[in-house]
Amino acid sequence: MIPYGRQSISQEDIEAVTQVLKSDYLTQGPVVPQFEDAVAQYCDAKHAIAVNSATSALHIACLALGVGKGDVVWTSPISFVASANCALYCGAEVDFVDIDSNTYNLSVEQLQIKLEQADKRGKLPKVVIPVHLAGQPCDMEGIRALSNRYGFKIIEDASHAIGAKYKNFPVGNCKYSEITVFSFHPVKIITTGEGGMALTNCPDIAERMQLLRSHGITRDADKMTKQPDGQWYYQQLDLGFNYRITDIQAALGLSQLERLDIFIEARQKIAQRYNEMLSDLPITLPCLHQQNQSALHLYIVRLQLDKITLSHKEFFSRLREKGIGVNLHYIPIYLQPYYEKFGYHQDEFVNANTYYSEAISLPIYPDLTESAQIYLCEFIKDLVSNQGK
Ligand SMILES: *Cc1c(COP(=O)(O)O)cnc(C)c1O
Repeated sequence: MIPYGRQSISQEDIEAVTQVLKSDYLTQGPVVPQFEDAVAQYCDAKHAIAVNSATSALHIACLALGVGKGDVVWTSPISFVASANCALYCGAEVDFVDIDSNTYNLSVEQLQIKLEQADKRGKLPKVVIPVHLAGQPCDMEGIRALSNRYGFKIIEDASHAIGAKYKNFPVGNCKYSEITVFSFHPVKIITTGEGGMALTNCPDIAERMQLLRSHGITRDADKMTKQPDGQWYYQQLDLGFNYRITDIQAALGLSQLERLDIFIEARQKIAQRYNEMLSDLPITLPCLHQQNQSALHLYIVRLQLDKITLSHKEFFSRLREKGIGVNLHYIPIYLQPYYEKFGYHQDEFVNANTYYSEAISLPIYPDLTESAQIYLCEFIKDLVSNQGK
């Protein structure tokens, strides 16, 4: 099976991990801060807090911004469930903003309309979480302008987007947000096995996230409520978690980071080939903003179903049967059984519904070979012309 995404591991990666295994610290050693500094520097952000997943990062990001009971958090319905779950963890409510029909990111136009309505009802969101779907940056200037007007905070879910650029600046610099979150799951752009990171330029937010990552405990005497009892002393100041990443993982991340630009180039080359090979078919190709650079985590196409005899479902299963590991990113979150009880009105999300009925993610990852790509494009051509019969 050709997967839709997978990690690329080099001999250097293996050696970096082995070195930690032979060292004194498997966790809470020197490599985690090295990894944090390297990512902060790459992204031009002031602070980086590494954790054991992007899900954890989103959770402590919400908490650090004060999200709690009675608050509302908005995000895109076309995302992984973690983008919404983080608000529920904090006891807040979640609502969704429909997507843009070209980029599939949260629509700024829809956001504005929804904010005007929410303002009238006195129920504005505390935080909005735009998701850079497939690695393509959202319209952050537009979202920031609305945040200045309506007073909400912004967490960028950049799980797909390390290495992406928004108007020539790296995603993660938090120029338009309070916090940006990355994922280092193996299907994402760089990996630590499991892992994530939260970046911010605000020292207070950074400090709160550091505390929450490790049980709410501090060993810094300056932050304690009294003089330490002795050198063993630590204080728990808040109810935190064990969301720490290990040095073993951080070593892999640090080594992977060195190849981040190479990974993005490889993804661009693959996307370019898809653009050429699939150009004359009844398939809508990704619409990428020229001013930005997508990290191309996903290559999402949409079937023009009025010009294809096969249904979306049939098309998908023909590819799977052929050993082509296509996927669908994502099932609208409001359709998940767990979310149904919150009573969302599906009709509100016209673009997300249509998207879900047409979208397919084709394989894209740095080690995908040209021959595998030609093979799968030929099969897609067969499917749309002779209907694969
Ligand atoms: C992968 C992903 C997450 C969760 O990442 P983990 O590191 O697996 O917790 C969150 N949001 C989006 C958009 C993702 O793709």
